[in-house]
Amino acid sequence: MNHPPVDVDEGVSGMFKVADSPLDGRVPDGPIADKWDNRKNELKLVSPNNKRKYEVIVVGTGLAGASAAASLAEMGYNVKAFCFQDSPRRAHSIAAQGGINAAKNYPNDGDSIWRLFYDTVKGGDYRARESNVYRLASVSGNIIDQCVAQGVPFAREYGGTLANRTFGGAQVSRTFYARGQTGQQLLLGAYSSLMRQVSAGKVTLMPRREMMDLIVDEGVTRGIVCRNLKTGEMEAHTGHAVVLATGGYGNVFYLSTNAKGCNVTAAWRCHRRGAYFANPCYTQIHPTCIPVSGDYQSKLTLMSESLRNDGRVWVPKSADDTRAPNEITEDDRDYYLERRYPAFGNMVPRDVASRAAKERCDAGFGVGETKQAVYLDFKHAIERDGEDAIRSKYGNLFHMYEKITAENPYQVPMRIYPAVHYTMGGLWVDYNLESSVPGLFVLGEANFSDHGANRLGASALMQGLADGYFVLPYTVGDHIGKHGSSLKPLGNDHPVVQEALESATSRVNSILAVNGTKSPDSIHRQLGQIMWDKCGMARTAAGLKQAAEEIRALRDVFWNEVKVLGSGDSFNQNLEHAGRLADFLEFAELFATDAWHREESCGGHFREEHQTEDNEARRDDEKFCYAAAWEFQGVGEQPMLHKEPMEFNEVALSTRSYK
Ligand SMILES: Cc1cc2nc3c(=O)[nH]c(=O)nc-3n(C[C@H](O)[C@H](O)[C@H](O)COP(=O)(O)OP(=O)(O)OC[C@H]3O[C@@H](n4cnc5c(N)ncnc54)[C@H](O)[C@@H]3O)c2cc1C
Repeated sequence: MNHPPVDVDEGVSGMFKVADSPLDGRVPDGPIADKWDNRKNELKLVSPNNKRKYEVIVVGTGLAGASAAASLAEMGYNVKAFCFQDSPRRAHSIAAQGGINAAKNYPNDGDSIWRLFYDTVKGGDYRARESNVYRLASVSGNIIDQCVAQGVPFAREYGGTLANRTFGGAQVSRTFYARGQTGQQLLLGAYSSLMRQVSAGKVTLMPRREMMDLIVDEGVTRGIVCRNLKTGEMEAHTGHAVVLATGGYGNVFYLSTNAKGCNVTAAWRCHRRGAYFANPCYTQIHPTCIPVSGDYQSKLTLMSESLRNDGRVWVPKSADDTRAPNEITEDDRDYYLERRYPAFGNMVPRDVASRAAKERCDAGFGVGETKQAVYLDFKHAIERDGEDAIRSKYGNLFHMYEKITAENPYQVPMRIYPAVHYTMGGLWVDYNLESSVPGLFVLGEANFSDHGANRLGASALMQGLADGYFVLPYTVGDHIGKHGSSLKPLGNDHPVVQEALESATSRVNSILAVNGTKSPDSIHRQLGQIMWDKCGMARTAAGLKQAAEEIRALRDVFWNEVKVLGSGDSFNQNLEHAGRLADFLEFAELFATDAWHREESCGGHFREEHQTEDNEARRDDEKFCYAAAWEFQGVGEQPMLHKEPMEFNEVALSTRSYK
């Protein structure tokens, strides 16, 4: 395909500015295996008796936030934990299905910390910080021990040892699971630890609160402003550090596998106060989701990657084949992943599997009414292992599929298609998980740290729990040790608190005052269409530039025509949605700019201009081997690009291959 290359000068003068000096990830010295220990030895400590003098605000009670809040309280800090749901147990983490990775090597199939590290760096298409990934792999085993101690009911082998299965991008089985409900079981474990601290008086739960702003005084984080979603009251909460664990922003696409409440609001408000946003365009489009079925659908459903352990992906060899799937003979089926990637087969990483499905459908081989689907078939697995064995592994997923499609996947193959699922981008953090605003730490899906341009399956739960149980509890003490005693409490009458409260209140009032004729949902749907068409699985320079223009225009539509029902002084989900949409409409422009500036294909970021002859992603390591961390300069103003160079000293930069 011929596309004109982007003129970098035009880019620099037209869509963004570039900072003069490189951004420092503050990675510790020493061999990779010693870096974390070296850092821990350098960090300032807060003595046990002093910890009780300090207050840490944790926003988000999913796996990352709940594990952090429970650990900090256990250590002696006073914690306030915020979430917008009525209970921490409803965090989106509960939706996680397939499993959590850890380098335990229980199946004795050759796994090690090194291999998990290597697979994750390679899986992320060499766009993650090596040192962070190594630390993640090294603490992965501790997570499983911690969760087992909490009573998480991981699947077990007949003899009682923990069972493992395989996930994409790996040739070993290292994924621990609890049927197709791993996130729910892990969250119940973290929630139990959290509630223990609630009853000990160390954690105060603040449910039904939406974070609206970050309070920053003299460049240091001092607290948050949040809206009580039941009363509409604006509240300021101050402390000695803020931990943000507010999840991903996949819902900028409107349709995604995320819970409907997932948003970018908290992260975006921090961005507006100085926190850099890194790699916003890195989005994971998951290959195995139930296909879109109509124009008025509001949600997509994931079919866990674990299904590809036993299910085989195929399309008919002939584009004109109209037979029912079970009537299509083996000779007439194209198991295209096994054909194209014999070494990994159906277990190639998600970005690779998604693009391959799109390629087959675009070429006319798609199945079902819309022709925008491929088959995921369990026929051979059921013949081999029996229906009961398949039911015991995936029963709840099969049940969910049947409820949604009215087809029985034990008898006919599932129909699946890629859908937006996870966001690798997020607020930029250094090695300590501290953002560019001192005292603001970012964990879990909300940060950008460990997955580069593509996350491997079962690694999000691992990262969220590593951040919350095993990294943040050490690093937050460094900030408190350095600044804690000099940070005097800020009252509500302090000018920075006043200003943040007023700015949050005026934003809500401005949205209510528009009083137009368009529902937030209809505008969000339009935004999703722009994002999917132009910033989705395949992107071009021209399309991305156009997307940025369309997003700006849609933002005007929002601020002139949105109609929010009800008032601001009671529970009003229409208003909540409008507020989150207003932030998505600012964020989406940065997303398109980031995707436009990155003139290469890597992981989930596929630029049509940069592909090999057989449609594989073509990276440009010379020009783009960096994390793009964007600094806010005003709505509609050119953002400032800070580049953090990614260095690969342990895993040599090479072309990713799963063949
Ligand atoms: C369907 C599905 C299945 C998945 N399966 C797996 C899997 O098997 N394995 C795996 O590793 N990963 C999986 N993932 C990814 C994984 O579930 C998530 O990345 C992870 O759970 C995110 O955890 P988190 O703690 O960062 O955020 P979340 O669990 O999303 O929690 C966010 C928290 O922040 C709060 N919050 C958000 N915004 C605000 C705000 N503005 N104000 C106040 N509070 C706010 C919320 O109330 C919530 O408490 C799956 C994802 C999906 C969508």
